[in-house]
Amino acid sequence: MFDVFVIGGGPAGLAAAIAARREGMRVVVADGDRPPIDKPCGEGLMPDSRQLARQLGVEVSQSTGYEFRGIRFHGAGRTVEADFREGRGIGVRRTTLHRALVQAAERAGVEFRWSTPMSGFGNNSEMKNARWIVGADGSSSLVRRWAGLDAVRSAARRYAFRQHFAVTPWTDHMEIYWGEGCQIYVTPVGAREVCVALVSKNSELRLDGALRSQFPFLRERLPASAAASRERGAVTGNVSLRAVARGNVALIGDASGSVDAIAGEGICLSFRQAVALARCMANNDLQGYNRQHARLALRPRLIAEAMLQLDRGQLIQSCAMGVLSAQPWIFRKLLEVHVL
Ligand SMILES: Cc1cc2nc3c(=O)[nH]c(=O)nc-3n(C[C@H](O)[C@H](O)[C@H](O)COP(=O)(O)OP(=O)(O)OC[C@H]3O[C@@H](n4cnc5c(N)ncnc54)[C@H](O)[C@@H]3O)c2cc1C
Repeated sequence: MFDVFVIGGGPAGLAAAIAARREGMRVVVADGDRPPIDKPCGEGLMPDSRQLARQLGVEVSQSTGYEFRGIRFHGAGRTVEADFREGRGIGVRRTTLHRALVQAAERAGVEFRWSTPMSGFGNNSEMKNARWIVGADGSSSLVRRWAGLDAVRSAARRYAFRQHFAVTPWTDHMEIYWGEGCQIYVTPVGAREVCVALVSKNSELRLDGALRSQFPFLRERLPASAAASRERGAVTGNVSLRAVARGNVALIGDASGSVDAIAGEGICLSFRQAVALARCMANNDLQGYNRQHARLALRPRLIAEAMLQLDRGQLIQSCAMGVLSAQPWIFRKLLEVHVL
C-alpha cells in the first residue's frame, strides 16, 4: 500500500517522490524507461536550482559537472554578461543528474517500478489503492488527459534540439547566442564537453543548419567531428494549464505546463513544485496546490517572456543589446530576478 503513486521518474517525479517521503508518506514511482534516463535539455542548473537540489539530498559538484559563474548574451554584434550575485551554476549531463536524483530518492526510501509504462488509471492495483496520484510524465502527459486537466490557458510552443560536443569549454558562463528567429545556448558540462541547444519556432531547423547560416564562428568551435552525442529534439515553450489538480490527481513538472527552455528554469521550477505539492498532499489540500502552482510558475514565465523579446526581430534585438551593453547594471539586475 502506498500513499503516493508517481507516474514518471524524470526530475519532477523524483523530486515529488523525495519531498513526499519527507512528509512521511509511502511513495512509489513508475516509469516506462530505466535509469539513467536522458532527455533533450540545456543541462544548466542555476545557483538556486542547485540549492534546492541540495535540500532534496541531491549534490551536484564540480566533479560531476562544470561550474559557471553567470550568463552571457551574444547578439546583434554585441556581448553582455553578468555574474550570479551568490554561488555558481553548474552544467551537468542529464543522465548524471538523473542518477543522482534516483540515488537520493532511494536513500529517502522511495520504491521504484522501472520499465513500467502506465496506460490508464484503472489497470494497476498499486495505483488504484494509492491515496494520491502524481502525474510527472512530461510535456506529452497522458495523465493530464486521463484526469481531464488538459485545458490550456495559454500555449506558445517552440522546437528544441540538443547535442554534445567533446571540446574544452571556452567559457565559464552559460552562453546564449541570439540569431534571427533562433537561439543557441551553450553550457559547459565537463572538462572536455559542452552541451549545445538550439531553440526556434521552425520545426525544420537543425543545429548544423543554424550554425552554418547564422553562427559560423560557433561552428568553428563545434566541428561535426567533435559531436559526442546524437542530436535529439523536443518541444518546449510557455504553456499554462487552467488547473493542475483534480480529485486525487496532481500534475507536476512539464506535465503541469512548461517554461520555454530559453529560461533554463524547468528543473528548478519542478523542485519548487515538488515541495509545495508534498505539503499540500500532507495537508489534504490539492486545491491549495492549484493556487501555489500558479504562483510558482509566474516569475519563470515572465522571465522567459522578457528574454523572448529579443526574438521579436533584428531591430528590437539590436536596441535591447545596445541598452544592455551600455548599462550593464540592468543585465545584472535582471539576472538577480532570474536567480533568487
Ligand atoms: C532543449 C531544452 C533545454 C532545456 N534546458 C533546461 C536547462 O538548462 N535547465 C533547466 O532547468 N531546464 C531546462 N529545460 C527544461 C527541463 O528539461 C524540463 O523542464 C524537465 O526535463 C521536466 O522534467 P519532467 O520530470 O517534468 O519531465 P521529463 O524529464 O520529460 O520526464 C518524464 C518521465 O515520464 C516518463 N513517462 C512518460 N510517460 C509515461 C507513462 N505513460 N508511464 C510511465 N512513465 C512515463 C518518461 O519516461 C520520463 O522519464 C530544457 C528543456 C528543453 C526541451
